[in-house]
Amino acid sequence: MTTAPALKAQIPDIAGQITYAMRTMGVAPIPRNYELFYEAYIGSNPALTRDLAALGNRATQEELDAIAQQHAIHGQARIFEAAHIKLINELDGVMRLLRQEQTSLDSYNKLLGETYERINNKHTTSADLLRNAVQLLQEATGDTMAHGEKTVEGFARKSEEMDQVRRELDEYKRIANTDSLTRLANRRAFDDKLVSLYDNPMALSLTSLIIADIDHFKRINDTFGHPVGDKILATVASIIRSNLRRDVFVARTGGEEFAIIVEGQTEDEALQICERIRRVLETTPFKNSKTGVNYGPVTISLGLCMASEAADAGELYSRADVALYSAKSAGRNRTMRFEEGMKKDFVKSWLIYKK
Ligand code: GH3
Ligand code: MG
Ligand code: MG
Repeated sequence: MTTAPALKAQIPDIAGQITYAMRTMGVAPIPRNYELFYEAYIGSNPALTRDLAALGNRATQEELDAIAQQHAIHGQARIFEAAHIKLINELDGVMRLLRQEQTSLDSYNKLLGETYERINNKHTTSADLLRNAVQLLQEATGDTMAHGEKTVEGFARKSEEMDQVRRELDEYKRIANTDSLTRLANRRAFDDKLVSLYDNPMALSLTSLIIADIDHFKRINDTFGHPVGDKILATVASIIRSNLRRDVFVARTGGEEFAIIVEGQTEDEALQICERIRRVLETTPFKNSKTGVNYGPVTISLGLCMASEAADAGELYSRADVALYSAKSAGRNRTMRFEEGMKKDFVKSWLIYKK
């Protein structure tokens, strides 16, 4: 599948948008700045995005590093490094235990061999010798067993400690991949998932990406205030989630934008899913139970593209986004599937949380 050059030029990929933003702001193209801008782009921390935007076009490296430090951007690598060191130490401990066990078994084995030789030597066989040999073996067996028990205890402790490190890493991964407002997967998790789809080319014809965006959300914010906007976002997220099967991947990919990845379903089935969610939202009352104020109706527009219609994750996202844009242009509160020739005449701002 090929994309017209003009269309491609209009829709830069994420990396392109980030580097473009960095270039526009005169930021040095070094890895730690890219990491900072990536975090701002995926919007995991709206305050970070705001702080970065506030720097304008004259950000010094010190200011950028200060923001990174303030928002613990480079903390991730440190957490993994610490876990890695911890695991290496635990493994060292395990190796030490194994070596000690080996030494103890070696000397036990040697003693068994020597005793066997002595008993086997008919010339020296006597009741005393046998008694001595049995006593020696008894003591050595006792020592070896005690040592073995200690080793087992040591192993149990080490395995518990390693389990703890694994749990910490799992928990960290969960937090790093979750959007705190909606509890859905965040942009980082979505990016990973989208890229991984193309590892299995056979499945692409039954895989679709849906991008859903709340209609006129700015108006909701402007009319009722940001905290109400946040509540509505969380409610929309939970309505989307509860109307999908557990195995369907859903993420909040931007301010008021959600992505759904449906696997193992045809395009028609995926379109039905879109329409079901759209209708449920359209008919859900959004009311403040205390004041009786009606915030609704809240509607969404959806764009869909089959994974087999794009060469890679970047193109798939762009095409679903083009379809979404068409749904917006056609009047909102509707679903559109991607079609060749659809156009999008603006480039999305990378500052998705910018107010
Ligand atoms: P359209 O129908 O074209 O999508 O219009 P829109 O107003 O929804 O789109 P636009 O992109 O102009 O505005 C999106 C608004 O979403 C702007 C921003 O204030 C708001 N927003 C983004 N993230 C958040 C958030 O985390 N909380 C709240 N309350 N609002 C947010
Ligand atoms: Mg919107
Ligand atoms: Mg939007």
